[in-house]
Amino acid sequence: MKAIFVKEPKSLEIVDLPEPVVKAGEVLVRVRAAGICGSDMHIYHGTNPLAKYPRVIGHEFAGEVVAVGGGVNSPKIGDHVAVDPVTACGACYPCSIGRPNVCTKLEVFGVHRDGGMAEFVAVPSRNAHIAPKDWPFEKLVMTEPFSIAANTLSRSECTSRDLVLVMGAGPIGLTILMGAKLLGARVAVADILDSRLKVAKDLGAELAINSKNQDLEREMNKWTDGVGVPLVIDAVCIPELFAQLLRIASPAGRVAHLSFSEKPTMISSLEVTKKELAIIGSRLNCNMFPRVIDWFGKGLEPEKLVSHKFSFTEVVAAFRLIEEKPLETCKVLLTF
Ligand code: MN
Ligand code: ZN
Repeated sequence: MKAIFVKEPKSLEIVDLPEPVVKAGEVLVRVRAAGICGSDMHIYHGTNPLAKYPRVIGHEFAGEVVAVGGGVNSPKIGDHVAVDPVTACGACYPCSIGRPNVCTKLEVFGVHRDGGMAEFVAVPSRNAHIAPKDWPFEKLVMTEPFSIAANTLSRSECTSRDLVLVMGAGPIGLTILMGAKLLGARVAVADILDSRLKVAKDLGAELAINSKNQDLEREMNKWTDGVGVPLVIDAVCIPELFAQLLRIASPAGRVAHLSFSEKPTMISSLEVTKKELAIIGSRLNCNMFPRVIDWFGKGLEPEKLVSHKFSFTEVVAAFRLIEEKPLETCKVLLTF
C-alpha cells in the first residue's frame, strides 16, 4: 500500500509499505480522506517536540472498514468510520478518571505511532466511530478537527448563556466558533487578518474584531456592558496575550488554552484570584467523536471549512500550497 512518510524532518515522500495485519480488537480501515493539520506541518518541519521519526503522518482520517479482527462486534465490514486518533493505556491516573487524552502513555496516530495518511490503517475498534453512509468522507474526516472544539467547549462548560471570545480565526478558532454557535452561545472572534475575520463573520460571529486596528479590551468591555467576557478561548497561542485574556475575562470567568508554546509568560495572580478565574487547558479530545457526529447530524456543516482537496499522490503540492498561501487555505484534504 502507499503511505505518506516523513523519514526525518524535511523529508516527505510517498512510499510502499506492507498492508497492516488486523489484530484482535482492531478493524482495518481503507482510508478515503485525510486532513492536513498544522501539527502535520510541524512534524514535517521537525518543530513538533512530541513527534518520533520515521513516521506515517495523519491524525485526521476517515474511511471504510474492510476487515475486522477477533472479538470485534462493531463496527462491521462496510461501515463508514471516522477514526479517533487518541489511544491510551486505560490504567494510569488520568485514564482512571476518564481523561484518556492526557494518558501518561498517550499515543496519537500520526504522531507517536503511524497514522492515517495511508491507504490502509489498523485501529482499535473503539477508535472507529460509525457515521451515516450517505455522508461524504470529506465531511467525516472533519470529525477530528471539530473534536478539538468539542473538547475545549466541554472542558470550559460552554452553554447558551455564554458570551464567548475566540482568539484566532484559523481552522481551530473557526471550529470553536461553529461549535459554540451550535450550543447557542454568542460569539466574538478576534484575529489580525481581515480575510479570516470575514470568514468568521460569515460563519455567524456576532463581532469580528481586528485586534491590530481595534482596541480589543475596549470592544469586549462594550460588548459585555463592562462585565467582561465569561468564556475566553485562546486559539492563537501567542504567550504574550495571556495577561490580556485574563483582563478581558469576567469575574467567575473561564480562560481556555490550546497553545503548545513552551515560552513562559507573565500573568498577574491577583487577576486570577480576585475574579476567581478558571484557567483551563484542552488537549486533543476526550471521547468527543460521538458528540461531533451528533453535531454534524444537527446541521453543523464542517465542509464550510474545507478550502482545497488533493489526491494523496499530490501531497507535496498540497503542503507547498499551505506554506505558500496560508491566507487562501483553511482545511486542506487529501483523498485516497
Ligand atoms: Mn488536527
Ligand atoms: Zn493511561
